[in-house]
Amino acid sequence: MLTDYHVHLRPDDEGTPAAQYFTAANAERYRAVAEERGIAELGVAEHIHRFTQSLEIWRHPWWQRWARDDVDAYCEFVREETDLRLGIEADFVAGREDRIANFLDAREWDFVVGSVHFIADAAVDMEEWSVWGRGESPEKVWRRYFETVGESARTGLYDIIAHPDLVKVWGGDAPQPEGDLRRYYEPAIEGCLDGGVALEVSTAGLRKPVGEIYPARSFLEEAAGAGLPIALSSDAHLPDQLGHRYDEALELLAAVGVTELSVFEGRERRLEPIG
Ligand SMILES: [Zn+2]
Ligand SMILES: [Zn+2]
Repeated sequence: MLTDYHVHLRPDDEGTPAAQYFTAANAERYRAVAEERGIAELGVAEHIHRFTQSLEIWRHPWWQRWARDDVDAYCEFVREETDLRLGIEADFVAGREDRIANFLDAREWDFVVGSVHFIADAAVDMEEWSVWGRGESPEKVWRRYFETVGESARTGLYDIIAHPDLVKVWGGDAPQPEGDLRRYYEPAIEGCLDGGVALEVSTAGLRKPVGEIYPARSFLEEAAGAGLPIALSSDAHLPDQLGHRYDEALELLAAVGVTELSVFEGRERRLEPIG
């Protein structure tokens, strides 16, 4: 069974109001493409920062700019007007665990995707607020990024840890540490094991400057070897990005010995054979 859970119903651009994208017709477009591509389990996971209630967690200026929509209206729309699993992509903000828990516990999700897009107030995958160009060494940025991913997994707030090596997103366009990168991955993998979460394999990186699946093969080898459950997603922001280049992800999963994928309902996880 193929899954795509980390899916957005709209692009991350201006001019993408909820009223236009949170519609049964739009959800139907995603469902149709998923069916065409053999993806039986389809969920949505809108960015937390697009909801006004996220400002109770964090008031980063970038979040303040984007927080427009009502999260309960989103939940109601997905439950009542679609047949999609209900999720959310909720950033981990260190020190705000209680506030994140309050936000998440107040709603009935099928799954919660945890993401690290920021290290303190610096963005990992955006040019605006970028972590790069502030005089930090790539070693320090990478170390802090993967430690934060591990920390996020350990909180118990999340079911899936998204794009686990997002820090590589810029490829050669940003400084990168030298040599064997496995020394960075370890704290992230340990955190996932401690937290009992599933690790996301995401084809989104293939659409980014790095041009690679998240996470790197050596990361996934280690994680799969340690028995971490795997969740497969595309991080689509358009219907046509659903299941994007899944053939390559499936090849990678087979190569590292992963034969089952995580399936979620009501925040319960079970494993289903990829088939
Ligand atoms: Zn993300
Ligand atoms: Zn996403």
